[in-house]
Amino acid sequence: MSSVLSAKHFHDEVSAFAWVESSVWPNGPVCPHCGGVERIGKMKGKTTRLGLYKCYQCYKPFTVRVGTVFEASHVPLRYWLQAMSFMTSSKKGISSNQLYRMLGVTLKTAWFMSHRIREAMRVVGIEPMGGAGKTVEIDETLIGRISDAPKHIGPGDHFSSRNIVLALVESGGSARTFHVGGTAMATLLPFIRANVCPKNFDEYAA
Ligand SMILES: [Zn+2]
Repeated sequence: MSSVLSAKHFHDEVSAFAWVESSVWPNGPVCPHCGGVERIGKMKGKTTRLGLYKCYQCYKPFTVRVGTVFEASHVPLRYWLQAMSFMTSSKKGISSNQLYRMLGVTLKTAWFMSHRIREAMRVVGIEPMGGAGKTVEIDETLIGRISDAPKHIGPGDHFSSRNIVLALVESGGSARTFHVGGTAMATLLPFIRANVCPKNFDEYAA
């Protein structure tokens, strides 16, 4: 039986870099210093750090770690990916102590990693909204410029660039907004499913 953790990027550092690069840069490397995409070269050489690039627009070096939770850490990327996998797949969460035992890093490193990952999960919202005793309100809103700049904005006014924003608001908690393609349930449901605690969602769907 092969487990999720048998994937190569959890064990091989070159694969780990390739995996993170393809998620962070789906269209190729982007310089985190100047935003350049065109004049970027991969640094090669026996002593060159893995995943090192140089931007020939601003002449600064960088790796995919810059600007991510992996920045300024000496922990191999494959351990970070393992830690993230443990922390996102465990229902009750993983303590720093468990991470320390599972990864074989120092306790201090495990503590640092778990804090960074937890913070990132909170920010990007991997943790589902609407846990025990909480409700999630769902609303869609139109945001956009009004064509011909009418004096009054009324229901009949035409939106020249209409953007539909779906908002999920947790009672007494956080809010998440998404730019969506329409107001049909089929369009909205995937966003709701991906962000709302399943138990809460069942009540909603009922
Ligand atoms: Zn640059």
